[in-house]
Amino acid sequence: MATIFSRIIAGEIPSYKVAENDKFYAFLDINPLAKGHTLVVPKREVDYIFDLDDDELAAMHVFAKSVALAIQQAFPCKKVGEAVIGLEVPHAHIHLIPIQKESDMIFSNPKLKLTNEEFVEVATAISQAWEGGDK
Ligand code: AMP
Repeated sequence: MATIFSRIIAGEIPSYKVAENDKFYAFLDINPLAKGHTLVVPKREVDYIFDLDDDELAAMHVFAKSVALAIQQAFPCKKVGEAVIGLEVPHAHIHLIPIQKESDMIFSNPKLKLTNEEFVEVATAISQAWEGGDK
């Protein structure tokens, strides 16, 4: 059975998309630690990120870099933190989170509750920065 992220990529389940190319898809985490918290996933369904082949893993990071630059442009922050956990959804994904301090990366922190309009605003700001950048 397809993972929830494959169903998102296929358009069967809605998502707040921020960027996409032929191999990867980026969309907002629905339980964000900060405005701009984004997930980057490979379109090929692989559970564990370190089961990706070397070229795919490298390309995923290059794609994640382009998304991180767009996040930082849309949501000025000290850095965009990167984390891989993957205990909840068995489809490899990179979390990209705008951070001001180390504790902003603690996953047990309370999540933001955003309205649909706010999610749309956040996704639009990042996707516009991504489309306007040099991929
Ligand atoms: P983990 O597998 O532990 O890295 O966590 C999975 C992440 O996916 C969590 O931060 C969830 O909030 C997020 N998530 C789960 N389902 C969705 C969804 N349908 N849309 C966006 N984010 C999701």
